[in-house]
Amino acid sequence: MTLEGLTIAKARRLIQAGELSPVQLVDAVQAAIERTDPAVGGYLSRDYQRARALAEKTDITLPLGGIPVAIKDVINVEGEPCTCASQILQGYVAPYDATVITKLRAAGAIPFGRTNMDEFAMGSSTENSSIQITRNPRDPERIPGGSSGGSAAVVAADEALASLGSDTGGSIRQPAALCGCVGMKPSYGRVSRYGLVAFASSLDQIGPFTHTVEDAALVLQAMAGHDPLDSTSLDLPVPDYSATLNDGVKGLKLGVPKEYFIEGMDSQVEARVRAAIEVYRGLGAEIVEVSLPHTKYAVADYYIIATAEASANLARFDGVRYGKRASAPRDLADHYGRTRGEGFGKEVKRRIILGTYVLSSGYYDAYYLRAQKVRTLIRRDFEEAFQKVDGLLSPTSPVPAFKIGERMADPLQMYLADIFTIAANLAGICGISIPCGDAEVDGKKLPVGLQIMAPAFAEARLLRMARAYETARLA
Ligand code: GLN
Repeated sequence: MTLEGLTIAKARRLIQAGELSPVQLVDAVQAAIERTDPAVGGYLSRDYQRARALAEKTDITLPLGGIPVAIKDVINVEGEPCTCASQILQGYVAPYDATVITKLRAAGAIPFGRTNMDEFAMGSSTENSSIQITRNPRDPERIPGGSSGGSAAVVAADEALASLGSDTGGSIRQPAALCGCVGMKPSYGRVSRYGLVAFASSLDQIGPFTHTVEDAALVLQAMAGHDPLDSTSLDLPVPDYSATLNDGVKGLKLGVPKEYFIEGMDSQVEARVRAAIEVYRGLGAEIVEVSLPHTKYAVADYYIIATAEASANLARFDGVRYGKRASAPRDLADHYGRTRGEGFGKEVKRRIILGTYVLSSGYYDAYYLRAQKVRTLIRRDFEEAFQKVDGLLSPTSPVPAFKIGERMADPLQMYLADIFTIAANLAGICGISIPCGDAEVDGKKLPVGLQIMAPAFAEARLLRMARAYETARLA
């Protein structure tokens, strides 16, 4: 039994036909991890015994019965470490399950293994992890994207059937694009954030990484829905995503935002994405050019709002309640100062300082308040576009995976990696990245991702649009 080419849908069929047991599947994941992960570095921790014990008693009639799912180390799983790849959370063991974990368990899935990430999900390459480097499965000299780089890499490297990540400005879609798997950010409020360690609470969403769109629909189905423990999760019915998955795109209008094909974008990325757009035309979709005029402000806007929220959210890591604590402090200020000074990495400190600055009196109006107004303009761009079209097609990332170390010296270069993904978070809409071919760089085939965006809570349509291309590509 190998995990290569194994999807959730296929594993489910094998399990239900009695040809594969959940314990055998856990064994296969363990074998794949032992074989591949030393070179990839996608996992931070795993507990095979725990997984096997769950596999033994799983109900295989449930929708995800016996399916192991790897979890980004920013989501609490009861009894497991949850480090956020930060030194400040060393020694912390989660006392409870995040709602997504409770829901996955109820659907029969087995949370198995914790994946590497940029510290507190701040970054685009996973190089900000304070624990280890994760390498792109296609080229060990390159980054897997971020911040959910571990979750993307373990799926792309066939060390997991599926994984969960979090997406605040692109952290699911961008690594999915760079590693060559499917990564989906649900609409803000579709999936509960309870138990997700908060980065920027008005932007964060949890979503799946999978091999196929069909599998993404299965995982989202299990996770979506209202949660009384997260007041920002919406009380809307959850449609049956699989039911409309294969309805195709004939007659749909798909918009191509002209601001998403910019100068400086990699020519191979552009060529693959334009070819994918032609596939949609061939499938009967009408392709129209649209404009999202405020796109150029998205990155700047995001780095005010996200850092402001992060500076407030990260105040809780004070060395009193969680994880690491400085030894023998002189007084309380020394205790806070040294705990946070030693516990947080450079990028996290940079964000806290920026966020505190934009919120400070005298600057609040000029930065934070202004950024909120720009956010409204960005949201309106999408509302207007979606009056004309059913979905939007664009590249996920302007470039294929870059080399380890290449952008670390220049935070602005790193921030620009998310230029096409950030606006969806600011607007609260849903988006997905699916593989649309490879770029050839230095003799290596590096994946290119197609991003599809749809209005808030139109996940059924988003998945159906993504599936149409996937079916055409796999045919
Ligand atoms: N790369 C972006 C950042 O560094 C987005 C991260 C994310 O989505 N969590 O903030």
